[in-house]
Amino acid sequence: MNTFVGQGRQAVYTQDELLPVETYREYVVRALPRPESMEIGTSDALGLVLADDVTAPEPLPAFANSGMDGFAVRAVDVSSASQTEPVELRVIGEVVAGATADQSVGPGEAMRIMTGAPVPPGADAVVPVEVTSGDGGRVSIHRPSERGQHVRPVGQDVTPGQRLLGAGRRIGPGDIALLVASGVTRVPCYPRPRVSVISTGDELVGADQVPTNGQIRDSNGPMLAALVRQAGGVPYIGGPARDDRRSLVDALESNLGHVDVMVLTGGVSAGVRDLVADVVAHLGEAAKFKVAMQPGMPQVVGRIDDVPVFGLPGNPVSAFVSFETFVRPALRVLQGRRDLLRPAVTAVLGADVTSPPHKRSYLRVRLSRDGAQWVATPTGPQGSHMISSIAAADGLAEVAEGTTTLAAGDRVTVHLLVDQ
Ligand code: AMP
Ligand code: MG
Repeated sequence: MNTFVGQGRQAVYTQDELLPVETYREYVVRALPRPESMEIGTSDALGLVLADDVTAPEPLPAFANSGMDGFAVRAVDVSSASQTEPVELRVIGEVVAGATADQSVGPGEAMRIMTGAPVPPGADAVVPVEVTSGDGGRVSIHRPSERGQHVRPVGQDVTPGQRLLGAGRRIGPGDIALLVASGVTRVPCYPRPRVSVISTGDELVGADQVPTNGQIRDSNGPMLAALVRQAGGVPYIGGPARDDRRSLVDALESNLGHVDVMVLTGGVSAGVRDLVADVVAHLGEAAKFKVAMQPGMPQVVGRIDDVPVFGLPGNPVSAFVSFETFVRPALRVLQGRRDLLRPAVTAVLGADVTSPPHKRSYLRVRLSRDGAQWVATPTGPQGSHMISSIAAADGLAEVAEGTTTLAAGDRVTVHLLVDQ
């Protein structure tokens, strides 16, 4: 059996030096500004959270209309109709969807009607074309009908003043249909947070450049932009910045004016060029923490002019897990969401694993199904530079702080990396 050993920084910290994941998450979430709602076009509101209840301004259907293609009739005229003794009616015209009848249906009369067309005055039932015969000016009805049959009455779906959707509701495609059908063209929602993503590091070149002499491509920038988008935010790539004060100050200042959150990667650990916390503190305020997790131990959080700033470690896996653990919940808060965490499942491990003392491991795992249970198998070596381990992951499996080994078959909680 393979054992997947973390290959990140191996130094052992004492419990006292490390902040529990939940404590740090609560700390960053509490410091966030309260989101302000705004009116947003209903068609653009998919995935946004309603700030207020929305009530129906009008009934749905707004007018009584036909549920079938057939004939609008007076039910009393056809109450005795049967296969053997059909009732014959005079066809006085036709009404299609999008039109209104120009006359009413009297005794002994019928009007040809299409699905969705307004039921003409006088008529109170619709007989489906399938149970009729005849063409031209007369129609034979082969089945009795009751009042209201195949008629969609006014307000059957929605009555005016009814609560259509409640505050806190995350708007889905069906909600958009309900709102638009009811004539609600704008809804009070929390807007998508605008997030600048700033990679930092002298070694970084853009995705379209060819790295030379120890350079690498900035993969965190595009990865974080994708994570921001997936988390409901609007990303702006504002980097990469170099590992010097001037470049960091420029990157922060030039992005500050047009975003709600800034996310940086790199430069948050103990190296001589790790300047992010200093520079953020110089422009606003910042604090450095060691969080009891692997990957993602060093974290910086601060703010500049009320814009929250997250400094995540630069190793791609650390940046990914840090985003999932702290930034995604923060972006959810800014969108008015109450469910801050990804959905999770319980799974059994598909391999033995190890975890450092005093830290919670977030192992990248693939999920498969074995009978009634999920099986979580590490995606390969778990080093924080192993980008392939995040690419292949369906979820992040937690190994608790107090646990240093788990065996295949042991239970773990897996946070699902699903789009939602
Ligand atoms: P740092 O957190 O700056 O000490 O960086 C830790 C590791 O992550 C180093 O190997 C960096 O080269 C790498 N790294 C930092 N930033 C990025 C980035 N934007 N894209 C890919 N790798 C990075
Ligand atoms: Mg660096």
